Amino acid sequence: MLQFVDVSKRYAHGAPLALSQVSLDVAEGEFVVVLGRSGAGKSTLIRCANGLVSPSSGEVRWNGRSVTAARHRELLDLRSEMGMIFQQFHLIDRLDVQTNVMVGRFHDLPLWRVLIGSFPAEVREQARQALARVGIDHLAEQRADGLSGGQQQRVAIARVLMQRPKLLLGDEPVASLDPVTADVILKLLKEIHQQERMTTLLNLHDVRLAKQVATRIVGIRSGRVVFDGPPDQVDDAR
Ligand code: ADP
Ligand code: ADP
Repeated sequence: MLQFVDVSKRYAHGAPLALSQVSLDVAEGEFVVVLGRSGAGKSTLIRCANGLVSPSSGEVRWNGRSVTAARHRELLDLRSEMGMIFQQFHLIDRLDVQTNVMVGRFHDLPLWRVLIGSFPAEVREQARQALARVGIDHLAEQRADGLSGGQQQRVAIARVLMQRPKLLLGDEPVASLDPVTADVILKLLKEIHQQERMTTLLNLHDVRLAKQVATRIVGIRSGRVVFDGPPDQVDDAR
């Protein structure tokens, strides 16, 4: 489904390799956690998946199509099948929760185009359902910037559900949450993975959390894959 073929990344001339010849296939239905210390290259790897970062060499393929070579319209088209959530949620602070979620249906349009229009009743209803799905329908009218971190990540997840992606990418989706909330949000992602059969690829730096949710763990260190296997083979004291 998603293939990294010999992917290397160097951000600047003379800088060390952030990724070094990474080859990896993510199959439909997997929940892959990329695990590693800070600076290992996790975020770079996740961002190469949808072309937010361009590899210096090698190629990323999505269902046989090259993400690396894709430009403009084609890249948008490929990205429309991949949803993404972030450490810092990236909500539109001044808008209410429901609007933030509805925007997910129109992820391929410029935001200003979306916001000058009005949302069809059907989209409003879908947003309500997505909010209920993540347990915060009671917050629909609240401003996004008034919410707790856990609530904001729930909004971001509801927004990504509106997109109906085939692949969910997460760049440190629980890194800015307290441990209890991080746990709850990961369980929610796991539930969504199981119920909507959404293939998931995200990075974490906590082994314990990774083992709770992953069907497969990819360990990286200094830009190289140093482990790739089932969670029960990962050493807790890594
Ligand atoms: P991780 O997510 O595991 O913390 P990153 O992928 O963020 O690792 O970073 C890997 C390496 O690439 C680090 O040495 C980091 O400093 C460097 N790096 C990451 N992003 C950039 C960037 N935008 N510009 C320059 N260097 C970067
Ligand atoms: P916080 O960041 O405030 O700890 P959480 O991420 O734990 O928030 O939860 C976000 C919101 O989801 C809260 O407002 C809470 O009311 C609601 N919530 C949490 N768990 C459930 C649940 N199991 N069922 C319904 N609503 C829930």
